[in-house]
Amino acid sequence: MNPVALEDILAAQARIRGLVRETPVEPSPALTARIGVPVWLKCENHQITGAFKLRGASNAVAQLGVAERARGVVCASTGNHGRALAHAARAAGIRAVVCMSRLVPANKLRAIEALGAEVRIIGRSQDDAQEEVERLVREEGLAMIPPFDDPRVVAGQGTLGLEMLQAVPDMAMALVPLSGGGLIAGVAAALKARKPDIRVVGISMARGAAMAESLAAGQPVQVEELPSLADSLGGGIGLGNQVTFPMVRDLVDEVILLSEPEIAAGIRHCYAEERQVIEGAAAVGVGALLAGKLQPKGPVVALLSGANIDMGLHLRIVSGEDVDLMAEEA
Ligand SMILES: *Cc1c(COP(=O)(O)O)cnc(C)c1O
Repeated sequence: MNPVALEDILAAQARIRGLVRETPVEPSPALTARIGVPVWLKCENHQITGAFKLRGASNAVAQLGVAERARGVVCASTGNHGRALAHAARAAGIRAVVCMSRLVPANKLRAIEALGAEVRIIGRSQDDAQEEVERLVREEGLAMIPPFDDPRVVAGQGTLGLEMLQAVPDMAMALVPLSGGGLIAGVAAALKARKPDIRVVGISMARGAAMAESLAAGQPVQVEELPSLADSLGGGIGLGNQVTFPMVRDLVDEVILLSEPEIAAGIRHCYAEERQVIEGAAAVGVGALLAGKLQPKGPVVALLSGANIDMGLHLRIVSGEDVDLMAEEA
């Protein structure tokens, strides 16, 4: 059976209460009128550190043993997971080390340092940074907290499913951003345990959709990582994936892929009609509804997973500019 069950998610909810925000669930009259069924938004863009990853990181940190707490935690993420782990470790009064390559921009480095984490700059790639993580685990006994493929992390993210269902008890469909699958695995485990007929839809960007390609292949596969407005959805699921691949395969009803203009339309709608500032990864549920890429079954709850977008980029998108990050990088 699933490595994460409803009891694990309920235990996580009790463990992280007071450490994370219970974020609002708002009705969307604009989307309801447009789609023809009630649409709600779970506004996790208002979470502390700007994304849901604080739930999983806090649940993992809260379960460390005394010896592990004395030594500290480590990860290689410079994105939302790195921020979350730095925050959760500081709240628990333990040491956090975030490993990154020399190519990471200085503003990201400073943002992680500002949360009290030690930063180690190693090599020229994410793989080099991950090697340093493994060395610190081996030689200094630090506890590695992975961004998604870990039952403690999945259970923490699953608390979102409980909050969505509590706010909209008759919900029939959940729209959930999908990358490594920690978020949707937890949310689907919570929702399906409570109401098995809720349809859980995962949405990724078409550029480098690692989980979708892995599901199609029947096993984890590597994909090329390309620039996307949904930068938090980039990266692989890990060729040795243990937890999220089987959970997503067994629990998720459908996976949808979005183009860059469809993601931009989601960001634009949330700003202009919902007054929400969200990052590209968080816009995919609304983007899928606007693009007519799914058969809506109401009430729908779309999960806005985070707010951490560069505000210059946000301004360009909401002003109507047709931003193509792939062309800009070339
Ligand atoms: C990490 C992240 C996701 C994807 O979560 P997974 O657990 O990797 O599927 C979606 N949105 C935001 C804002 C994220 O930070």
